[in-house]
Amino acid sequence: MATPTYEIYAVKYGGPYNRPACIVNWFQDMDKTAQINYYIFVIRGGGETIVVDCGVDPQLAKQRNLDSYVSPAEALRRMDIDAARVKHLIVTHVHFDHISGIQLFPNADIYIQEKEFNFWVKNPVARRAPFLFVTDSVANRYLARQKGKKRLRLIRGDKKIFPGIELLLVPGHTIGLQAVAVNTAQGTAIVGSDLAHTFSSYKTDIPSAIITDLIVWMKSYDKVKAKVSSPDLLFPGHDLALMADYPKVAEDITRLA
Ligand SMILES: [Zn+2]
Repeated sequence: MATPTYEIYAVKYGGPYNRPACIVNWFQDMDKTAQINYYIFVIRGGGETIVVDCGVDPQLAKQRNLDSYVSPAEALRRMDIDAARVKHLIVTHVHFDHISGIQLFPNADIYIQEKEFNFWVKNPVARRAPFLFVTDSVANRYLARQKGKKRLRLIRGDKKIFPGIELLLVPGHTIGLQAVAVNTAQGTAIVGSDLAHTFSSYKTDIPSAIITDLIVWMKSYDKVKAKVSSPDLLFPGHDLALMADYPKVAEDITRLA
């Protein structure tokens, strides 16, 4: 049987937000400002709908005073996806903008790297200030409670989870960040999440400033570049161009491939 092809959608649930440019691209343009959006992604094809990342929960959005924000569940409704009925949820990493909304997907199997899970749930270092600041402790406790349940799929390294969909362990930004390689009509595309905040990181080799291991990060760049069919199919996690440069299918939703 032929491998199915999938479509990839970017779903913006927040932004644009101003950030120091040197956070978005490590030590670059120290005195400038850059803009980012918050996204989740949807992969559709072969009879499956797979959501990549959870976005920010409405309660945390309030606490963090996020303006230009809609609940990821509301954003998904614009493409007729009921978050509560989503069956497959890939968590790329456990930073708040990617994990916080996990309770919006109560019936989904959760695909997360075991290393990422173990660090955030078990390692006391994850409760030190710099880590606490970038995660959501409410979502973390929820994630911890999934331990031992069938829906929690702890992934070790690279793994094909559907024909034409492979999870790739690409650490550097976090200890167990994963990207998603997807068979599309244009070839193998990669939903890279925060392996790069913006397209420019893939071009310049300069990642964001939120780093756990810069040496392995470089190796992760080599890995995805070897895997993707063409550089324009390697998608970053926060670039405004994901909205601006692709066909719009609904409000704040574009088709990337
Ligand atoms: Zn992020």
